[in-house]
Amino acid sequence: MRKAFIKTFGCQMNEADSELIASHFAQAGIETAESERDADVFVLNTCTVRQHAEDKALSLIGRLKRWKEEKKGRKIFVVGCAVERIGEKNMTKKFPFLDAVIGAKSIGKLGEEIKKTCGKTEKSEKKEHKNIVFEKRPFSQYLTIMRGCSMNCAYCVVPSVRGKAEHRPLEEIIEEARRKVASGARELVLLGQTVNSYCWTENGRKTDFTDLLKILSEIDKLKRIRFMSPHPLFFNDEFFKEFEKNKKIASHIHLPAQSGSDRILKIMKRGYTRKRYLDTLAKIKKTRQDSAVSTDFIVGFPDETKKDFEETLKLAQEGEFSLAFCFKYSARHCKESENIIPEKEKEERLNLLLETVKQASKRIFNSRIGKIEDVLLETENYGRSSANFKVRIDKHVAPGEMIKVGIEGVSKNILLGKVLK
Ligand code: SF4
Repeated sequence: MRKAFIKTFGCQMNEADSELIASHFAQAGIETAESERDADVFVLNTCTVRQHAEDKALSLIGRLKRWKEEKKGRKIFVVGCAVERIGEKNMTKKFPFLDAVIGAKSIGKLGEEIKKTCGKTEKSEKKEHKNIVFEKRPFSQYLTIMRGCSMNCAYCVVPSVRGKAEHRPLEEIIEEARRKVASGARELVLLGQTVNSYCWTENGRKTDFTDLLKILSEIDKLKRIRFMSPHPLFFNDEFFKEFEKNKKIASHIHLPAQSGSDRILKIMKRGYTRKRYLDTLAKIKKTRQDSAVSTDFIVGFPDETKKDFEETLKLAQEGEFSLAFCFKYSARHCKESENIIPEKEKEERLNLLLETVKQASKRIFNSRIGKIEDVLLETENYGRSSANFKVRIDKHVAPGEMIKVGIEGVSKNILLGKVLK
């Protein structure tokens, strides 16, 4: 049987898309390969959020020419956000040996493209697409509830490469959630660029993100729901009421800050102030005392003064984040008129921020010692707590079980615990 190896760059949305890509190939009778060596098809799902990610993808494509020549009949598919930004025609012109080039907005044509490029097999005719579940993470599965983004953050390419926000029909989401749980998922990770802005109206009835959480929580055997990435602007009182009482909602929230300076937040067009961000953060921690919050920061945004950066550092200290993804602003989208921060200065700011974040994260990890965590096991001795800490347990337990674990120590970024029941 022919096999496809899928290489994914970028965020969880891309990982979820790769699961979808795998199911399209499965439908055509092409199963997933563990390595490119065994594969007849190489699928590269690209990312363009930073120049580095795009460069990595382009350099890999260059090397794939040789991979294709090593075995007759091999095909290369390149898909995703970098293709959308660069343009399908430009990509094909630059790399004429590619067999299929599909931008993020046109991913719907993948099935047709597979048929055209790889042909059909006997098996493909017998399989039903919706019965195929791609089980890379069997107990914790992604569920995309919306695509694209209608915000307009000054630094972000997502709206241009993925298009405006499109929310999936409620029934489709519920059906997919049930199917995933029936296939063994005990945790669902709801995905969307501004996932908590989800809204679906049908027959005059409106379902918002909190309603969706309530509906999905009713699925028997589903033990936990995570979501990624929410936007600080879309949390409301209804959400917090549900977050307080519904313990199926994980107590970890990723709350992207990007900057601690009001001036920079405004230039970034994030739509909130430092105070509003801090109020939301405080509300999360007050509502669920076992909660943990992670974040994103960008340093060296054009015009960011030392004082602006200090505000970000202060936020990183006050925020007590369990984890923070910190990046230097990628200068590729800068206009000539912008006051670009020199690379060396950006590097220094980034290092300072990383150190601050590391110290805060250490405190948060240590603060879990002595606590009891509900851990959903991903392997026989590793799992994740509701607040999204990786936990190693002292004995072997069947994966997929939710157990109580007493935390006794920390080793690097892992909590060490004893199984209580
Ligand atoms: S909300 Fe997120 S995805 Fe949307 S434009 Fe802003 S950073 Fe990009």
